[in-house]
Amino acid sequence: MTTQAWLPRGAAAVACLTFDVDAETGILSADASAADHAMAITHQQFGPDVGVPRILGILGDLDVRATFFFPGWVAERRPDLVTRIAEAGHEIGHHSYSHVPASSMTRDQEERDFDRALEVFRRIGVPIHGHRAGLWEASWSTPAIIAERGLSYDSSLMGRDTPYRVATPKGSIVELPPHWSLDDWEQYAFLPFPEIGQHIKNPADVLSMWRAEVDAMRRFGGLFMLTNHPFLTGRPARAVALEQLIGHILDAGDVPILTAHELAAQLSEVVLPEHEHTRPELETGLFPTH
Ligand SMILES: [Zn+2]
Repeated sequence: MTTQAWLPRGAAAVACLTFDVDAETGILSADASAADHAMAITHQQFGPDVGVPRILGILGDLDVRATFFFPGWVAERRPDLVTRIAEAGHEIGHHSYSHVPASSMTRDQEERDFDRALEVFRRIGVPIHGHRAGLWEASWSTPAIIAERGLSYDSSLMGRDTPYRVATPKGSIVELPPHWSLDDWEQYAFLPFPEIGQHIKNPADVLSMWRAEVDAMRRFGGLFMLTNHPFLTGRPARAVALEQLIGHILDAGDVPILTAHELAAQLSEVVLPEHEHTRPELETGLFPTH
């Protein structure tokens, strides 16, 4: 077992359970014409309508708290759901307004999208402490935009498998890194149009993989940042696998389950590795462009 300075006393690893409530924006951000496809839209609406209540029930039964990242567009249309989640003790996180990748925007566009979501959360009355980029597609400006607005953390970048700091001109923010291997999208996402994936994997296999990752995180002192989507993991056998995964984490006895904000707050006085956040300088002509 490895002990690392960032870990709470007695912990071998930390788990954050995060749910990205993308709903319709999960496909509209890829292609607005998806709005013409009733099956695809209802496939996404299953997330907030059925998946979220089912997941809330599991979290409540196990008495654990999670972080639900909402695009502002989704929260604006479902303020009662946002309030219900917050009142159950969970955290609401900022997941852009439109879910359009920030990496495809100018800084001005990204700031307007970011602030539009903040305004939605302010109107609903839920506090916002952190951000996750749509599709994790943060831009080279995203950490600075987060810091300028006084939020404390991001959860989009993948420079480590433990928390670290990202330097910005407005001071550093905490990065709580996710990873593709702990995302249900790569396991369960199937939709012919817009094509968001071609995967319908056995939840028992997914559970096995994620349990192994919990165990390995305990060995290396890592952050188990689970990223699930209610429109995917809200389906029955997948929801049961999630319940069993949380049971495995609880049984370990040395892996506290914290909301992203709880973890970021605990780390505010801890010395963490600090990363610069700059686009690599490229020599003209060295690498091909397409
Ligand atoms: Zn998302």
